[in-house]
This record gives sequence, structure tokens and C-alpha cells, in this order.
Amino acid sequence: MPLSRWSSRHEKTFGKKKKEKWNGDFRKPPKPKHYYTKTKGNCRWCGNVILNEKEDTINTRKSWHEDCATEYLLIYHSGEQRAQLWNRDEGICNKCGYFDLHWEADHIRPLVEQKGVKEKDLDWSYYGLDNLQTLCKKCHREKTTSEVKLKTRSKNAKKKKKSRN
Ligand SMILES: [Zn+2]
Ligand SMILES: [Zn+2]
Repeated sequence: MPLSRWSSRHEKTFGKKKKEKWNGDFRKPPKPKHYYTKTKGNCRWCGNVILNEKEDTINTRKSWHEDCATEYLLIYHSGEQRAQLWNRDEGICNKCGYFDLHWEADHIRPLVEQKGVKEKDLDWSYYGLDNLQTLCKKCHREKTTSEVKLKTRSKNAKKKKKSRN
């Protein structure tokens, strides 16, 4: 990530340090407790110390590892998510291999599977770049439809079970 963009954003969105209570939105998981730390030299994402280039001293001017900032932005900034996906896939659909100017970002294992999961049990691998893919409009629509079908099918199966009892 270019540093200039990083620093201007830092002021705006990374300056917030008042602890927010998680509203249970599975699309925006709660931030780790070190996110709210005021000590410089400790990463606000992973909580580990940030070392200088020579790795012999702690860099007390920084609050983020670059990789950690990238990961953070992927989850909390949809624009940044698109930028990272574009860098990796360049608009090529992961299903059919065609380029779509209006490509869409898709979670391979749908985020909704994390719905209702308690904070401590959240599976963070759902939120990483590895669980994201580029899909063309058509393939995305097909995937969403089949996911909805699957859901109604399992719901109906549950209902059947219940009525049998
Ligand atoms: Zn870190
Ligand atoms: Zn496609």
C-alpha cells in the first residue's frame, strides 16, 4: 500500500481509539483489544511490537505493521477490499475465467456462516483475502441463487423433521 495514502487515512479512520461495543454484525467483526491501545510501537491489529528495520529496536513512531494494516483495511474498508482483489485477479472471474468490467467480490465460504457466532468463536479465516474471489456478474448471481436454494432446502428439511415429531 502506498504510504501517502496510508498516512492520510491514518488520520481519518485509524485515529479512533474509543472502544466500541460490537453490535454483532458478522460482516464487520469486532476489532481486537489492542486496536484501542495508545502505546506506540505496538501493533493495533496483532498486538505485537513493531521493530525498526534493523530489528534491534522498537519503532515507537508506528502503530501498525504494514501487513496488518493491509489485513485490517481488507475487512473494514470495502474500497480497499476491491483494490486488493483487483491487484490479485484483475477482474478475471474465478469460475468461468472471463473478464468482467463489473466484476464482483465474493466470499468463497459465505460470511453468513459466521452469523450468530460468539465473538471468541469467530473464524477469522473467513475474512481474509484467501476466502475472497472475483466473480463476473453472471457467475456471482448463480452462486448466490444456489446458496439461497441450499438454505431453503435445509430449512425445509428441519421443518419436516419437526412435523414428524
Ligand atoms: Zn501487526
Ligand atoms: Zn464468471
